[in-house]
Formats: sequence, C-alpha cells, structure tokens
Amino acid sequence: MRNGEFARREDSYEAKLRMAFENNDISDLVARYEEMGYGGMTPIPHEIINEMPNGRILLGNNCAEYLKMMIEVTQQRRVEVPFIMIGETVYDTNKVLFDDFYTIKGDSASRLEETACDIQTVLDEHKDLEPNFTGRIRALQKRNDGSRAIICFGHTHPNRSSYYGTYSKDDFKNIIQYDDSIERARSSVGDDRAQTLGCMVAANGDVDFMFYDRTAINFYKFTSVAGRKSDGRVERFESYSFRTPMPGR
Ligand SMILES: [Zn+2]
Repeated sequence: MRNGEFARREDSYEAKLRMAFENNDISDLVARYEEMGYGGMTPIPHEIINEMPNGRILLGNNCAEYLKMMIEVTQQRRVEVPFIMIGETVYDTNKVLFDDFYTIKGDSASRLEETACDIQTVLDEHKDLEPNFTGRIRALQKRNDGSRAIICFGHTHPNRSSYYGTYSKDDFKNIIQYDDSIERARSSVGDDRAQTLGCMVAANGDVDFMFYDRTAINFYKFTSVAGRKSDGRVERFESYSFRTPMPGR
C-alpha cells in the first residue's frame, strides 16, 4: 500500500466526519471534547446524534443470545470484542431484522489485546460470511419487495473510562469506512440493495446501533432494540441509556 494513498483515504473519512458534525451544528461541542487530548478516542456523545426516523431493530433468537454473551464478556473480561451480524429490512422501512451472527473463535479470543477490535479477524475466520451477505443481496433482488440487505459491524466497550458508554471519533470514522468496504458487494448486484450499520455494546448493557447515511453525510441512531427469545417472546434491550459526562470531567 502506498503511503500517500492511505493518507488521502484517512483524510477523506475525517473530512466526512467534520461535515456530519457541521450538518448538525455540533462542531463546537465536539471541539470541546477534542480539547481533552484523547485523539481518535475522543468521545462523541450519542446525545447529540439524530434518531433514525421509525428506526427499529429486532434480533432473532440466536443474535439476541450472542449479544447477551457480548455484554457478559465485556463486563467480566473487560476486553473489546468485534462481531458482525447480517440481516435485512422489512420491505422499504427502517425496521431491521438480524438473524445471522459472527464473532471471533475461541482460540483467537485468548489472543485479544486490551484494546483490540479487529473486524478483519472476524472476516478471516468466517469464510462463508461474505458469500452469505452477497447471497442475501441477490435473494432480495429476486424478491424485489423493497427490502435491503444489512451488514452490521459491531464491537464492545468495557468500562475503562468515564466515557465508555458512547462512540469514539475513531468509531465514527470506522462506520464510514465499513460502509465503503461493501462497495464491491453493492456493485456486484448493480443496485443499492445493501446497507451497513455500526453497533456498539457497552458494559452497562446498552446495545447502540448507528447508521451512516452516505448520501446525506449524517449519522442516525436506532433507539429501539428488541430480541426474540427461544420461546417466541420479545424482550427489550437497553439502548443509549448511558449519560455521557460533559467534557473535562
Ligand atoms: Zn469503540
């Protein structure tokens, strides 16, 4: 990889992030958090992010179980764990159903560094993940009922600072980058039937989904998350309940 190329890409994510903040008139507040000197780890309070209109997440029972495991691991081992989910929207709505879950395998779990959040490991260890996603796009294209395929890139936040329960600046840049990374899957089917979401699971039990709208250059949070239990009943997950401290505390 040529250095110049990599630098330009990074710059463009930074520029898009700046644009998103400007679009919401929150640049000044973000600047106050940046003054704390955390760099890429600068917390961006979720409180200042827009809500996805009529956004709802429903987790199939295996995804709900896995996410509960993610919460437990994050609380007990205090490590960051990467994971990926695949699902689809209900027709042309902002309601998303997830039914396919991938995370790092047991032996690589022991290799996790304190700060590791390596989505690439998840992709490398599950060779069926990308074909499954592409297959879903093709199936939806055949069905032609307006539904979109969704791939969600997630990671966990253990309680290691007073800002642990919100996204960082690097997290937002990653969400933009993940959205770029499915460009090939999108173009392989010749239309826009595929979208990405970010997800952050915090040690307090919050499950925070985030959408990056690359057309509007803006972020939207899903505040309604529910999981289906194996007996068919639906239970709510906490979402964005964490209160982000003001900068400098
Ligand atoms: Zn993070």
